[in-house]
Amino acid sequence: MKKIIIAIDGYSSTGKSTIAKRVANTLQYVYIDTGAMYRAVTFLALKRGFISEGKQTLTIDKDSLLIALKQSIIRFEHNSELGVSEIYLNGQNIEKEIRGLSVASYVSEVAKIPEIRAYLVALQREMGREKGVVMDGRDIGTVVFPEAELKIFMTASEEIRAQRRFLELQQKGEVTTYEEVLQNIQKRDYEDTHRKESPLQKALEAIEIDNSSTTIEEVVQKIVSLVRDKK
Ligand code: C5P
Repeated sequence: MKKIIIAIDGYSSTGKSTIAKRVANTLQYVYIDTGAMYRAVTFLALKRGFISEGKQTLTIDKDSLLIALKQSIIRFEHNSELGVSEIYLNGQNIEKEIRGLSVASYVSEVAKIPEIRAYLVALQREMGREKGVVMDGRDIGTVVFPEAELKIFMTASEEIRAQRRFLELQQKGEVTTYEEVLQNIQKRDYEDTHRKESPLQKALEAIEIDNSSTTIEEVVQKIVSLVRDKK
């Protein structure tokens, strides 16, 4: 079967990455989590002290961050024990660090910076050059791969998304509340859909899937059958 590019976009915590991973495993495709790349850049910014927060203001030293990013290596490596691919920044596995609320609180601000987006989009295009990829994010079907053969737009209600993410964070031992997680999701949705540069939008030809009341497996099967229909 001819390999294609599958672009999965949607709001935060809609289960995009879980679904994308399983679709990739089923089809023997490569999975690329572009959110993890924006998170990695945010982690880099926090680590190097390029983000400073006043009472009402947030400042990001964009120039220094861009220089540091260009000197860094972001790559994914397959963890065969866990059967997942994990993100590395300059040789350090930062999977755990990027999933916490500290990175989540700043990532949408970092993702607004046009020069950072341009740099990451170029990396993402390179990663998808050979096709046979499932890539998830916010602008994959609209900006990164407008020519993707299959585009999915994933949604789910805010409350369900917050509940799922809250349980996930709790299981990882992170101290937080449902309200805090809900607020973070609402804030990121707002910022992701209202930013000037590549806002989250449903691509015209994207197929919308609301997974509020479906199981992950049902959505995976639906996407796999859409791919098989393409032949
Ligand atoms: O998908 P995830 O929630 O990990 O993404 C984290 C953040 O990265 C999003 O809230 C969004 O601000 C940004 N992002 C983006 N474009 C992408 C992927 C993620 O702006 N393609």
